[in-house]
Amino acid sequence: MINFRKVSGFSSEEVSRLISARILVNIVLVSDDFKKKVLGFKFATTNDSPEEVMGRISQPWLINISIVTPPFWKRWISQETGHECADGCVVLDRDKYACQSIPEIADTIIHEACHVAGYRHISEQDVTSVPYALGTLTKEVSQELLTENNVPDHLAAITSTNS
Ligand SMILES: [Zn+2]
Repeated sequence: MINFRKVSGFSSEEVSRLISARILVNIVLVSDDFKKKVLGFKFATTNDSPEEVMGRISQPWLINISIVTPPFWKRWISQETGHECADGCVVLDRDKYACQSIPEIADTIIHEACHVAGYRHISEQDVTSVPYALGTLTKEVSQELLTENNVPDHLAAITSTNS
């Protein structure tokens, strides 16, 4: 379960998408579909077993999150949608955020939260690392949830902002 201790820099439009993404992340984290995918995943760059990864991400997470306009040169050299600071704060890239769907923001939040939890990856191609794997699985399960015919009421608001 992810909660934000401190949210800074977001406009009201940006913060409403952030809240939708956080709700989505928390629905995904407790879903059987997500648990099954995580427990069946072969993670690299960690000594933790899938059960240990699942146990660790099932703990309550309290993170600080902020959004910044990146320096111009970063647009050309990096695909990063966010990064995490030494003090455990997650920082999102405003330009990338503006183009992301709610499931993609959910992916970014979980990816950066994994860094806060101590998981690393070697490169941006490191798809079997915990941050990339959980991000991708979160996005997949999110998209499945949102495309099912019977969208639950608590998800309707998310679908409508995800057009
Ligand atoms: Zn990363």
